Amino acid sequence: MRMWMIDVKYMCGYHIIKEHNDIHRLLWLLESKKFDLTRYNFPIIRLEPQSIEERHDALKREMERRHIVHIGEIGHVTLWPYLAYQINVKVDLWHNAKELCRTCSSCRKKILRKN
Ligand SMILES: [Zn+2]
Ligand SMILES: [Zn+2]
Repeated sequence: MRMWMIDVKYMCGYHIIKEHNDIHRLLWLLESKKFDLTRYNFPIIRLEPQSIEERHDALKREMERRHIVHIGEIGHVTLWPYLAYQINVKVDLWHNAKELCRTCSSCRKKILRKN
């Protein structure tokens, strides 16, 4: 699961759909209370709990703009499993932009504004 948090207009359709699905999966995990954060030990920050709702809506709007079908609304976002200090963490945009450029030629073109 990963929230890239890159401006949606610089992301390819695949990564928009992937991030959107990751958010729904994350919400499902949070609500099903199966999410034990103490078991996650990522070397970098991959999720921004406080941005879940806003980010979901930005991805959804961009999917609709690109005529990608969006299914499933999100309800109230519960952040109970997060420790207080984890709620306000921010992903590293510079790192994420480099990562998308490195691993995805479609995102790379958009980020480097070559299309
Ligand atoms: Zn959705
Ligand atoms: Zn991509």
